[in-house]
Amino acid sequence: MIPLIALQEDTPDWQKQLARAITDPNELFAHLRLDPNAWPETLAAGHSFKLKVTHSYLHRIEPGNPKDPLLLQVLPQGAELAPQPPEYDTDPVGDIDAMPHPGIVHKYRGRILLIATGSCAIHCRYCFRRHFPYASAHPARHHWQTTIDYLQAHPDIDEVILSGGDPLVLSDAKLGELIARLQSLPQLRRLRLHSRLPIVLPDRITPQLLALLSQTRLRCILVVHCNHANEIDDAVREALLRLHAAGVLLLNQSVLLKHINDQVDSLAALSLKLFDAQVQPYYLHLLDRVSGAAHFAVSPDRARTLQTALSGRLPGYLLPRFVYEVAGGTAKTPL
Ligand SMILES: *Cc1c(COP(=O)(O)O)cnc(C)c1O
Ligand code: SF4
Repeated sequence: MIPLIALQEDTPDWQKQLARAITDPNELFAHLRLDPNAWPETLAAGHSFKLKVTHSYLHRIEPGNPKDPLLLQVLPQGAELAPQPPEYDTDPVGDIDAMPHPGIVHKYRGRILLIATGSCAIHCRYCFRRHFPYASAHPARHHWQTTIDYLQAHPDIDEVILSGGDPLVLSDAKLGELIARLQSLPQLRRLRLHSRLPIVLPDRITPQLLALLSQTRLRCILVVHCNHANEIDDAVREALLRLHAAGVLLLNQSVLLKHINDQVDSLAALSLKLFDAQVQPYYLHLLDRVSGAAHFAVSPDRARTLQTALSGRLPGYLLPRFVYEVAGGTAKTPL
């Protein structure tokens, strides 16, 4: 969350755009020339996890199209309020049990994931952390000291993953401070960021950020989150190319989502468009069973069919790994 007080004249443009993100469904409907009466449950569905979308992303949604694959990712719908199957709950992947300290998720060998912030530039309706207790799980509140202590007590960890929320919502000053502290630990070799900002707010990729990522001694990996080829417009592609030119390895993770990208044509187009922007497909996640998102689920059988069809269409290096997450597992599980 960007405090209003930060919005002075020298506030970076991306922070102003973030502060102007749309949170009022009626504003969204007006921009897209959609009839609000067609979605009577949007207000109620957005009550606990509200609508949020940047203008940049909004511009890539086709006006007047209620089935637009980008719109469906951000618009709160009545289906979120419907009774959920019993296996859907508020912490589907067991993150809370895997936190030795608030905000530090240590599930897999050699790497930890930090909840660097609870804030995002966009609210994806299927988000597996949509019920996450961010207010109490936030390592930054202790100036990262708990994280540094934890790393020093676990010298086998050589990679830190900044996640959230979205770590690129943090200012360059805050990120710089964190990176400086991390790179002072000789055990660390790699810094990974899991961020949707290059996709939903490409102006976030500022020269200052590029300098931070290219000047650290840590090898930087940025895993973006893009689900559909329409999410990549010229501004996004240029932002990704700048990151690539700065020496950042770019990977993508997607979520397989019903009526959004559950067709082989759609998945193939996404891989090809990512590759044009120097991004390699990494993971295609089956939906985590988070309560409120059951209507996005694609069955494992359908996912296997898509996997086979996609491998018949694309070179191997453009195939994402189809995976799902099992609470308590030692890695993502291949389909
Ligand atoms: C997914 C995940 C990772 C990263 O897994 P990779 O297979 O290395 O990409 C790390 N930690 C946690 C807690 C995760 O959920
Ligand atoms: S950007 Fe990521 S963390 Fe934020 S709402 Fe979307 S899926 Fe969830």
